[in-house]
Amino acid sequence: MAIYDQTQQNIARKINENSEISNWKDWHWQLRHSVESIDTFENLLDIKFPAEERSKLEETLSKFPLSVTPYYMSLIDAEDYHNCPVFKQAFPSPAELDIGGCDMADPLAEDTDSPAPGITHRYPDRVLFHISNVCSMYCRHCTRKRKVGDQDSIPGREELQQGLDYIRNHPEVRDVLLSGGDPLMLNDDYLDWILTEVRKIEHVQIIRIGSRMPVVLPYRITDELVEILKKHQPLWLNTHFNHPREITTSSKQAIRKLADGGIPLGNQTVLLAGVNDCPRVIKSLVHKLVHNRVRPYYLYQCDLSEGLTHFRTPVGKGIEIMESLIGHTSGFAVPTYVIDAPGGGGKIPLNPNYLISLSTNKVVLRNYEGVITTYQEPDSYEATFCDRKCDDCRLHLKLDDAEEYRATGIEMLLSDHDETISLTPENNARIDRRNHE
Ligand SMILES: *Cc1c(COP(=O)(O)O)cnc(C)c1O
Repeated sequence: MAIYDQTQQNIARKINENSEISNWKDWHWQLRHSVESIDTFENLLDIKFPAEERSKLEETLSKFPLSVTPYYMSLIDAEDYHNCPVFKQAFPSPAELDIGGCDMADPLAEDTDSPAPGITHRYPDRVLFHISNVCSMYCRHCTRKRKVGDQDSIPGREELQQGLDYIRNHPEVRDVLLSGGDPLMLNDDYLDWILTEVRKIEHVQIIRIGSRMPVVLPYRITDELVEILKKHQPLWLNTHFNHPREITTSSKQAIRKLADGGIPLGNQTVLLAGVNDCPRVIKSLVHKLVHNRVRPYYLYQCDLSEGLTHFRTPVGKGIEIMESLIGHTSGFAVPTYVIDAPGGGGKIPLNPNYLISLSTNKVVLRNYEGVITTYQEPDSYEATFCDRKCDDCRLHLKLDDAEEYRATGIEMLLSDHDETISLTPENNARIDRRNHE
């Protein structure tokens, strides 16, 4: 099979009359020829938008800019582009201007939870480290849409040093997630420097990279890049395939290089109306992913960011999809369906209900087929009372390895060693009255 299909050859030829197709696989060439205007888009795909649509599109672009790699463009089905899942992720829709009452510029409060430049510290033991403000393509469904195209730059070393200092000064951080923008927009040397600096921090156990390059610019995954990533193990990489159509010869090659390099791969999919809101599409996607050694990690409910109204589905669609996966296919092909809590509460997993009822010694459950079953609980369970004196415990937790920590949240309510009996939200009128009397 030819590496370049007809569409790719046509696009390459139009971009530059004399350009040899051999440039196609050069990621810098791809970036230099990113499509940023509607005219170029029309020209490259041989399509023409109706005049009344044009002015609305231009208006949309002035708020949310356009940028697509020639490679990702070549995946668009020009015959039926209006319904094409690649087109919908890459090309603006006037619906982006419909900003609803509950839409927010920063729904995940990433800016609020930022103690140092580039750092979002939301969970106890891990941080997001935004090391790039740029992407090789602007996904229309970007949750950081407010920032897209704003500040097209890569932070300098001094700025990144502040983030690194924060991580150095917080020994509880054992997992650093390099994010952006797309971290793989950095050149190899710069990336190598950052990875080296993070690796030097002793309490950082794992590094993760979140990148859409394998999907939208697979030629970024060069042998040289893999050699660099390999030096900084344990390093995990999560990518972002949303539709089986994105799994192409080129993206498979990129993934194969990473997997062969010993980088564990995960995938985060966003559930998008008109793109992948179908159990069969998602099932086909997760099967192709595991076939290519990528573990489906999260399925995200679309965030409440501005300009995404037309992409959102009801939560029921996600549950319906999970219902079609759990039990029906391999456990490791099933992602966790999550809502990233508006206001910054983090990811909240959602599943169909499998627990039907329970008594003091029996649980009634249903399985994926609808079979209702019972699980008899032990009569003789001897609970391990936990007073957090782990040195004397029969369960032999070796605390030199396991960090001692205070239980928080629901975990705290369940524990034996904490006396808290309830959690009360702030601004509770009943509690306020108590305090004032
Ligand atoms: C998603 C996310 C993480 C990582 O969460 P995991 O569930 O560990 O993958 C960390 N910090 C922030 C701010 C996040 O949004």
